[in-house]
Amino acid sequence: RTKQQGRHGYTLFNHELRLNQADQLALESELRRALEVDDQLTPFFQPFIDAKSGALQGFEALVRWQHPTRGLISPAIFLPMAEESGLIMRVDRYMIEAAARQLRQWMDEGRLTDGVSLHINLSSANFHDPELLNWMQALIRRYALPAGMLHLEVTESALIDVPDVAAEVIQGLHNMGVRLALDDFGTGYSALSYLHRYHFDVLKIDQSFVADLDQKQESAAIVRAILALAEALDLDVVAEGVETGMQLRTLRDMGCSKLQGFYFATPAPAARIDWDRLAGFASSFRQVA
Ligand code: C2E
Ligand code: MG
Ligand code: MG
Ligand code: MG
Repeated sequence: RTKQQGRHGYTLFNHELRLNQADQLALESELRRALEVDDQLTPFFQPFIDAKSGALQGFEALVRWQHPTRGLISPAIFLPMAEESGLIMRVDRYMIEAAARQLRQWMDEGRLTDGVSLHINLSSANFHDPELLNWMQALIRRYALPAGMLHLEVTESALIDVPDVAAEVIQGLHNMGVRLALDDFGTGYSALSYLHRYHFDVLKIDQSFVADLDQKQESAAIVRAILALAEALDLDVVAEGVETGMQLRTLRDMGCSKLQGFYFATPAPAARIDWDRLAGFASSFRQVA
């Protein structure tokens, strides 16, 4: 690691959130190349935990770009470019496949059983492409995975533009047994109508509400409302962005079932996952319960 690198190992480059056009074009052709030639794109994995027992419930795969000269590039930098250029569909498929391969390996090693789930983010572009369904089906077969272990996370904004095609793809995934999570819940426009319209299995409470949970009554009220909604609709809930023990206790007391955030683990490459630490939550939760 160089001095330049910040808390999450990203280079300063990443803090210049607005790229000029030349940089943008350079980055686009570099991403094209990264998708073709080598392992520059790689999934990091962040666990989520059962709020009551502390047991490991699964992982979310988050894309990272290990650029040969620019360092580790955050998705905040290159996903907007990938969306604009249409490369996002290849990034997403690359990630889904990489995550599926990793899941297969973890199962073969006996680290994970089919009670846990692997979440992968899916951009809205995929909803224009019903071919995704055949591709997913083939992938699930190739890696002999229980479809229900795979969860695809989409944001509310992903559903705004494409209601009809989205419905077809979402229904197809649902029929296949793949599960769907609504990401960053509470930050979009008409979340409630989407819940009604599509088959979602999981709500992910946006980290902005969790961050303010212990300072702002409004945030606590929103979290409570989301939990009540999820219970009424029989949806599972994951709270994102849990950073403190106080947030953990508040969310557990409110009845939130799963928790994800830096408090438990930051996203890490598969080889750097601290399995002993993850197993430790189950015993430390027992002591305080
Ligand atoms: P997201 O899916 O909502 O993922 C959660 C983000 O919050 C991740 O940022 C994660 O590293 C970060 N995070 C996790 N715990 C904490 C915490 O306790 N505190 C704080 N402050 N942040 C936390 P990341 O990895 O930079 O990803 C950003 C976004 O990029 C993701 O948001 C997702 O929308 C998108 N993304 C990531 N990977 C992919 C991918 O493979 N495909 C697509 N289409 N989108 C992706
Ligand atoms: Mg997500
Ligand atoms: Mg999110
Ligand atoms: Mg997000």
